[in-house]
Amino acid sequence: MAKIQVNTPIVELDGDEMTRIIWAMIKEKLILPFLDVDLKYFDLGVQKRDETDDRITSEAGQAIKHYGVGVKCATITPDAERVTEYRLKKEWPSPNGQIRSILDGTVFRKPIIVHNIRPAVRSWKKPIIIGRHAYGDIYRGVELKVDRPGKVELVYTPTDGPESRVLVHDFKGPGVVMGIHNLEKSIRSFARSCINYALSERIDLWFSMKDTISKKYHAFFKAVFAEEAEARKPDFEKAGIRYRYMLIDDAAAQMMKSEGNMLWAVSNYDGDVFSDVVASGFGSLGMMTSVLVSPDGKFEFEAAHGTVRRHYYEHLKGHPTSTNSVASIFAWTGGIKKRGELDGTPAVVAFAERVEQAVIGCIEAGIVTKDLVALMDPQPVGHQSTEGFIDAVAERFKRSGP
Ligand code: NAP
Ligand code: MG
Repeated sequence: MAKIQVNTPIVELDGDEMTRIIWAMIKEKLILPFLDVDLKYFDLGVQKRDETDDRITSEAGQAIKHYGVGVKCATITPDAERVTEYRLKKEWPSPNGQIRSILDGTVFRKPIIVHNIRPAVRSWKKPIIIGRHAYGDIYRGVELKVDRPGKVELVYTPTDGPESRVLVHDFKGPGVVMGIHNLEKSIRSFARSCINYALSERIDLWFSMKDTISKKYHAFFKAVFAEEAEARKPDFEKAGIRYRYMLIDDAAAQMMKSEGNMLWAVSNYDGDVFSDVVASGFGSLGMMTSVLVSPDGKFEFEAAHGTVRRHYYEHLKGHPTSTNSVASIFAWTGGIKKRGELDGTPAVVAFAERVEQAVIGCIEAGIVTKDLVALMDPQPVGHQSTEGFIDAVAERFKRSGP
């Protein structure tokens, strides 16, 4: 069979531990035999990051900026324990955090839905994707403990103007205060990334704040979002999707009753809470994908889980493993599909979709890794090894061939 040609290079970011092993298997068994693709390879394995004083991470981020699409394997974010384990020079910062700031991007998490794993919420039938703002609010807050009566004020001293102040509270006894902030630039980038993602997936965009209570802070977010959505109105109409603003509590109630199939954009704190609500409601970390989208339309795809450290140690002991590769496979197919869409090459898009169908076909036929067994209805009798599952997908993919 002739290989399918991918016109523009895809940036490949390799990673660590169990996911590195899975990553290589996917590439060898599901991608390279069928695609003629120029992969710009960056090894983000923790040892290589250490060896290059982490330059490799920023080079990889720049390459995604240049080529437009990247696929990333999970990586270790080193802590003190990892520094000892891998004899590192220091606790290098999170590669994901660095790439996010290079691309000024927003992360969207999307569950993979199959018929025989029912979400905890009965009405959910299609993915609910959370877009979480990644800057400011309580994560950059400053706080004071008030231990005796006194006045607390917010004071704004412009570089070239008179100061203004508002009273926070006139304390008669002990209490606490916090000051939080956000930036127009960051809110605007966030809005643009969310709009790009909703348009690219052709799903409705919801945005929620609490502007009835916070008439300046939350209302500012609402206004910026509304402006950005208005500017793309023709694109929304062309894609047949809607932009809706809802109060956060209203949106939370609507979300629990909905079928899914929307992007729900939320503030940093709401995103922290609701991404965990939605992820655990849909089932397994092994079935959750993640994509980083920049305001100017660059994409990086990955699995939402980590390097599955415990399984890797079993693997190193020579024990069999049954690690779920679905989210890593979908990182590859998500990137390939996006590349095909941007290049206008339908055969590339169709290839990625056929691989995804082979994955879903296997799961729906009860061919799964161990983590999924307990979630399934009906429950399969056995489970596949890490490699056995990928082989079964490759087999099914070949049988589905044209
Ligand atoms: P993890 O890799 O997400 O795994 C935690 C546990 O979740 C596993 O031990 C396993 O449970 C289950 N699990 C997660 N993914 C699975 C899969 N694909 N198949 C089957 N089970 C799966 O988190 P971790 O082990 O705590 O973290 C390991 C490293 O990952 C850390 O160094 C962290 O820095 C890094 N990390 C990277 C990213 C990223 O690159 N995006 C994200 C998060 C964490 P059982 O052991 O019960 O089977
Ligand atoms: Mg959290």
